[in-house]
Order: sequence, then C-alpha cells, then structure tokens
Amino acid sequence: MIGEKIKTTTRASLLDGATVASEIKLQVKTEIELLSKEQNFVPCLAAVRVGDDPASAVYVRNKIKACEEVGIRSEHYALPESTSTDELLSVINSLNNRPEVSGILTQLPLPKAINEKLIIESINPLKDVDGFHPINVGKLAMGDPLFVPCTPAGIIELLDHYGIELNGIDACVVGRSQIVGRPTAQLLLQRNATVTICHSQTRNLSEVTSRAELLVAAIGRAGMIGRQYIKPGATVIDVGMNRLTTPAEVESMFGAESEKRLEVLSKRGYTLIGDVHPAEAAEVAGRITPVPGGVGLLTVAMLMKNTLKAAKLTLESKTKT
Ligand code: NDP
Repeated sequence: MIGEKIKTTTRASLLDGATVASEIKLQVKTEIELLSKEQNFVPCLAAVRVGDDPASAVYVRNKIKACEEVGIRSEHYALPESTSTDELLSVINSLNNRPEVSGILTQLPLPKAINEKLIIESINPLKDVDGFHPINVGKLAMGDPLFVPCTPAGIIELLDHYGIELNGIDACVVGRSQIVGRPTAQLLLQRNATVTICHSQTRNLSEVTSRAELLVAAIGRAGMIGRQYIKPGATVIDVGMNRLTTPAEVESMFGAESEKRLEVLSKRGYTLIGDVHPAEAAEVAGRITPVPGGVGLLTVAMLMKNTLKAAKLTLESKTKT
C-alpha cells in the first residue's frame, strides 16, 4: 500500500570479538611455547601504572591476566600518585635497559602533574607495545608500521576474520584520537579503503557517516550513533566504552533487549554501552560489534601479539650482535 511504512525486521549480525580474541591468544601461546622450548626465552611485559585510578587498575589487571593465559611473564609497577616525571623516567629507563623485558606499557591517562608526552617518548620504540611512540606513529603514517596501537590493530583482525572487504570501500571513522581514531584511519587507508575522518567539528555528521559501508565509532558518547547515522547494511564497529546508570537510559537504548541489561544495572550499578545506539543500529546495520564482547577483548589480545613481536625483535637483535 502506498504510503505505508515498511517495518524493518532484519537484525544486524554480531561480529564476535571473543572468538577472534581467543584465536589470537591461542596463536600467541603456541608461539611462546615454541620460543621457550627452542630458544629458552620467555617474553616479559612490564606494565607501569601511576596513581589510584580504579579503571586503570582494572585495565592493568586484565592485561596481566592475559599475560598469564598466554605464558608471557609480567612485571607490574604500581607507583604512587605523587610520582614525578623524573622518577617515572628513571623507571622507564631501567626497563629500556633490561634485555629480558620485551615490552613496556604505561597505563594512560597518567596523573596531570606528569609530562605524558615525555614519558611516551622515553620508551624504546622497539619495546613500545602500545604503539604510541612518535617513531611508531610516524612509521604507521608512512605505511611501514612496526608497532600499531592495539585497539585499531584488533579492529583490522576482526574485519579480516569475518572476511569483510576493505579494498576500495567507503569507510568513515568518527574520532581522531591518537589511540583509536587516527591509527584506525591509517590502517584502513593502508588497506585501500577510501577513508573519511570525522570529529566534534564535522558539519552534518550523519550525512557523512551514512554514506559509509564501514563505520567506526570511537567517540566516547553513549549511544550517540543512531539510525540516521548508519547506511542500511553497513558494517559498524563500536569502539566506545560508556556506562549507563539509570533504568530510563537503559530502556531508551536497548528497547526490547533491556531486561538483561536492567539485571546487570541492578547488580553492578551500571551497564556498559558503546557509542552506537544498540536498538536502532540492530535494525539498520548489516553487521555490528557488541559492547561488551566486541573490540575491547581484541585490544588485550593484540597487546599479547605485540609483546610477542617485541620479544622476537629482541632475539633477532641479539643474534645480529
Ligand atoms: P577521545 O576522547 O580521545 O577522542 C574522542 C574523539 O571523538 C575526538 O576526536 C572527538 O573530536 C570526537 N568527538 C567527541 N564528541 C563528538 C561528537 N559529538 N561528534 C563527533 N565527534 C566527536 O577518546 P578515545 O579515542 O580515547 O576513545 C573513544 C571511545 O573509545 C571512548 O568511549 C573510550 O572509552 C573507548 N575506548 C575503547 C577501547 C577498547 O578497547 N574498546 C580502547 C580505547 C578507547 P575532537 O577531536 O574534535 O575533540
């Protein structure tokens, strides 16, 4: 009937980060067992955390747990909030100088009193498993990456796992942070996607994003990317990690799927949501990453992969000298 609204009943299929993350970790574990057997070498990740930020403590704990899972040795430095830039620099220097330490990460954000830029630049680029050092940023921009930031690298692994074509596609990344938005755009460009980068000053955002066959949302705004931002059938990668704390918010975002989320909310006091509106995206997108259970799990898995790579680089440089 003319004028009758067609109700969309199709639901986007989920891109399951858990499966891909387990596969990556299994691969890393197998290679580490081999390294240990054949070269008597066990990689080591040093994680440095400063201050009492509870979220940072959880992130570092998860990274250390993943190390245990794959057989990477880990060292955890939990320094007090009062740590100075110089004190932190000396911790990093000593880790740089120890050949048995393969990878170094400083959990961000650092307390305001610390010069974060200086700290990032002080990490040996060959041990920079987060890929934040200017040399690694530059190498990625030149199309010759050494260490790539873990979240963007995980997004590409996920897309590859599901056989999603990147060559020549219209891709749009919302967010231009050094940690997620920019490196993701670089990686997509390297894979021959035509990439648009959007940010808080982009005009007519939904007009731009709704042209994209692949939409990556890395904004930090709960459920902002609703129906009108998404091209029907598009692949949507939701990087956001936000918290909903009221039943009304949960119901407006999850619609018919609210029940389980409300249970989580009443148990924990919050439920996680990405930057994409889950109920609306499910009706429009072709494929989407869930939150939780999507990109977040891949970030830690890629950190394990980067640490293994750093260990191999150390071993290579040893055999050359
Ligand atoms: P940042 O705050 O560093 O960057 C956010 C970006 O979003 C900025 O470029 C900003 O633009 C842009 N932005 C903000 N508001 C708007 C808007 N209204 N319209 C368009 N663009 C906007 O965040 P991160 O990149 O570090 O993180 C993004 C999200 O991803 C967060 O929710 C974070 O928690 C999550 N995250 C998840 C990870 C995971 O493992 N799953 C890992 C890292 C982050 P501008 O530059 O103009 O300010």
